[in-house]
Amino acid sequence: MTPHPRYPHVFAPLDLGFTQLKNRVLMGSMHTGLEEAENGFERLAAYYAERARGGVGMIITGGIPPNAEAGSGSKLSTSEEAAAHRLITQAVHTADPDVKICMQILHTGALARNPNCVAPSAVKSRIGSFTPTALDAAGIEKQLNDFAHCAALAQQAGYDGVEIIGSAGYLISTFLVQKTNLRTDEWGGDYANRMRFAVEVVRRVRATVGAKFIVIFRISAMDMLEGGLSWEEVVTLAQAIEAAGANIISTHFCWHEAPVPTIATMVPRAAFTQVTGRLRKALTIPLITSNRINMPDVAETVLARGDADLVSMARPMLADPELVLKAQEGREDEINTCIACNQACLDHTFGGHRPVSCLVNPRACRETLIHYRPTARPKQVAIVGAGPAGLAYATVAAQRGHRVTLFDAAAEIGGQFNLAKRIPGKEEFYETLRYYQRMLDKHGVTVHLNTRVDAPMLAAGGFDEVVVATGITPREPALPGIHHPKVVSYIDAILGRKPIGQRVAILGAGGIGFDVAELLSHAGPSGALDRDVFAKEWGIDFEKHPRGGVTGVQPQTQTSGRSITLLQRKTTPVGSSLGRTTGWTHRLTLTRRGVRMVNGVDYLHIDDVGLHTRVNDQPQVFEVDTVVVCAGQLPLRTLYDDLQALGVPTQLVGGAFEASELDAKRAIEQASLLAAEI
Ligand code: FAD
Ligand code: NAP
Ligand code: SF4
Repeated sequence: MTPHPRYPHVFAPLDLGFTQLKNRVLMGSMHTGLEEAENGFERLAAYYAERARGGVGMIITGGIPPNAEAGSGSKLSTSEEAAAHRLITQAVHTADPDVKICMQILHTGALARNPNCVAPSAVKSRIGSFTPTALDAAGIEKQLNDFAHCAALAQQAGYDGVEIIGSAGYLISTFLVQKTNLRTDEWGGDYANRMRFAVEVVRRVRATVGAKFIVIFRISAMDMLEGGLSWEEVVTLAQAIEAAGANIISTHFCWHEAPVPTIATMVPRAAFTQVTGRLRKALTIPLITSNRINMPDVAETVLARGDADLVSMARPMLADPELVLKAQEGREDEINTCIACNQACLDHTFGGHRPVSCLVNPRACRETLIHYRPTARPKQVAIVGAGPAGLAYATVAAQRGHRVTLFDAAAEIGGQFNLAKRIPGKEEFYETLRYYQRMLDKHGVTVHLNTRVDAPMLAAGGFDEVVVATGITPREPALPGIHHPKVVSYIDAILGRKPIGQRVAILGAGGIGFDVAELLSHAGPSGALDRDVFAKEWGIDFEKHPRGGVTGVQPQTQTSGRSITLLQRKTTPVGSSLGRTTGWTHRLTLTRRGVRMVNGVDYLHIDDVGLHTRVNDQPQVFEVDTVVVCAGQLPLRTLYDDLQALGVPTQLVGGAFEASELDAKRAIEQASLLAAEI
């Protein structure tokens, strides 16, 4: 077979002896919430089949508990439950018989949202809901048999293999680590005993499923725990897992409870793959690496460097089901890149019971519900505003065959994403704008930049549909002194249009207040673009690999030296409304940089001295050189009102529709759904 000209390593097949993977990209496991939804398995089947058609070599399903105590979701412990899984395996194998699909067996142990949860010892996780019951000898035997039985049922259901998750703070990993395994019997104590459960799971699964079934074991190659596994212990475990019969080892990098970001957008691309590369030298079976590999060139570099045999991309497959196909066909500029925001995926998974989707691709996990079908009646559509809402509307409408004209007053497309992309750690936002620009070109959208349109212009334009996506205008609090020269809007602060002093008060602590604090407190290269800076900032030692990768390493952050205070009126903790899975990283970063956070503030006035307030009913003056206003936003609807007055039927989308609690997730979703219907 001729190697692929651009991605020879990505598109090299992998021979496992009894079966072959057609390329080196697998879709990593993600719980979607569909597992428990009505018609969930039909929807999962369509979701996975779309990714199979999109060119991926192997799919790992979201985690499925092997018994009732192992989690709170849809388990697999009976033949009836196995029957539902057939929908998935048949859909994937029909979509492409060469694509393999493995089911992940997930025993969440002490992290189960289940009062009957079990663990090696009764140690409650910092992030767990319940204190687990310590397993007795019979309980351990039952769990081991349940793993094996679950694997047999997966085989019956038509899967090509299973992935056993032995990382992240779930059951198997809690046997490995001393702080969660306090046992004194043969399953606890020294490392050989603590490893026994993991090895026994693999041994029993292999004995049950026979030789011709893929068994993958997911290991924490760097658990990011103080006192976690040493490098020697990681290697010893991996070798024992290989000897017990696994075909592939997959590397994972963090326990969920560890205070180190490993997949957020501030994490550099492929930051951890060299750790997998070190482990690869100690094993003979293939290794999978993961985390922040979101584009084919990153995957190619990682594989070419010898870091791994396979790369796992999980969220990137939500963002673009055709990622692999587009790379194969030389259409990588059409890839809708995962920006690692977690806003519609992991924040939904961990934040309650909202099903997973994707900020940049609202069809994700709704493949049976949302269709962008070609239109039978092409219309002339005018869209005003090329922010995320206008761009999403234009892309979907034009892709369906409508003739779209897009106007923006600015010199470039993107709206507020042009501010977001300038925040250190948010560089991935450039990719979304690259994607939309390519879609506008590909689908023949006529774009008029530097064009502020008004209602008469649109009324005279002969359009069948007018869409107003004019976004927002920043809220200006009615505060004496709000026009004092030391007051700066967040737009001017981010664009560097006004000087910012050494002592700064940020008025408003929502997402934008935090981003402005990040920008103004930041110094040096962005950690998202520099692995060494990132490692220092989060206290990771990739070179010496102390226990957990972090034991004894002090985080060192560079700061601009500014004295910054972030203020809000609410009495809730500052930053509590930020993303469920990423908010803590922003709070911790700013705290380490010395940014003060004050809640319960009443703003009184601004003058030459600074910002006068009452905090908890006590007068307090923040003597600052600059006050940056980040007090939320109001919809910009002047154009819409003018169009209404002229009687032009108009659709409103994005911030122009509703500015309160607006984010790009809502803007893109609303615009895409409306454009799917015109
Ligand atoms: P906008 O992005 O505001 O776009 C409106 C466009 O309309 C503008 O380009 C404007 O020039 C144009 N326009 C207005 N009037 C006219 C006219 N009369 N004629 C022609 N053109 C006109 N959201 C998230 O989900 N996640 C984040 O991490 C995130 N980070 C952010 C960070 C920053 C610093 C900022 C400022 C915002 C961030 N947001 C984030 C919010 C997100 O960018 C907005 O929710 C989103 O841009 C709203 O999209 P929109 O299309 O409705 O409006
Ligand atoms: P926001 O999150 O709604 O925050 C607005 C802030 O202004 C709050 O702190 C609010 O807190 C304060 N405020 C509101 N009215 C005020 C008034 N009249 N006077 C003084 N203060 C007032 O909005 P945002 O920060 O502008 O962000 C806009 C959108 O972009 C949000 O939906 C956000 O989710 C999104 N975004 C997301 C991220 C992300 O990382 N996910 C990053 C940036 C932006 P008090 O009322 O308590 O003072
Ligand atoms: Fe990636 Fe954000 Fe989409 Fe999740 S929501 S898949 S992190 S782009």
